[in-house]
Amino acid sequence: MTTLYVLGSGSRGNCVAVESDGVAVLVDAGFSAREIERRAETAGLPLERVAAIVLTHEHGDHARGAARLARRLRAPVLTAPGTWTRLEGDMKDAEHRPIGFCARTEVGPFRVTACPTSHDAAEPLAVALHAADGASVGVAYDLGRPTAAVRYLLRHLTALVLEANHDEVQLRTSGYPPVVRRRIAGSGGHLSNRAAAELLGELHHPGLGVVVLAHLSRQCNTEAEARATVASALRRAGFAGALHVAEQDVPLPPIPVEAVPRVQLGLAL
Ligand SMILES: [Zn+2]
Ligand SMILES: [Zn+2]
Repeated sequence: MTTLYVLGSGSRGNCVAVESDGVAVLVDAGFSAREIERRAETAGLPLERVAAIVLTHEHGDHARGAARLARRLRAPVLTAPGTWTRLEGDMKDAEHRPIGFCARTEVGPFRVTACPTSHDAAEPLAVALHAADGASVGVAYDLGRPTAAVRYLLRHLTALVLEANHDEVQLRTSGYPPVVRRRIAGSGGHLSNRAAAELLGELHHPGLGVVVLAHLSRQCNTEAEARATVASALRRAGFAGALHVAEQDVPLPPIPVEAVPRVQLGLAL
């Protein structure tokens, strides 16, 4: 049984956990360690089960609590080499394990794979966790645009946590200075609702059971807008699973991720 915990997501902090067979992997630790502990307790995730902390990139909203949490949990930190270079000064005794395009890492029942993303950070990654029971979860946010590598990484997964950062009209008419608007909408920035909907329409397959929209902008998006844009694309693609929207301030209730036999996905055994 694999469970996805979305402890919070947005520009003020991101933290997701996936648990399978009593082992959990955190993807990002963008709140303080104490806040992550509080949220994990609210969501019913025992943090002592965390066997590794994966960081997508070094921005504070993804890495803020990582050093302290890694020390407290004695968990290794998995990042791209370039991300580690930026963080290592704060990480002191933490054990680093590199992940990236070519590295495949095992953590308990999970196989961790990753690919580069287009974002204004040292070496940002999207991440996929494949549990031994056949469930799999992809986490991809802070995406300027969905590259071929991201599409390849996220294909055939049974759950997706994907950025739906902004509504394009709301961004254009927002009070942000033009330079900020260009950064958000640019290839080093963030994915819009429309781009997320298009990508999900492409990635949809019969085994996709869970979609979580993440990293919503408070200024340029609403939950209703993101959900409506993506839901219609998913409906057209034939999606029959559960669509959730991550919140910035509170964790979502735990989300079960069904295992789908590889044969059913049309994959080799
Ligand atoms: Zn971010
Ligand atoms: Zn970022």
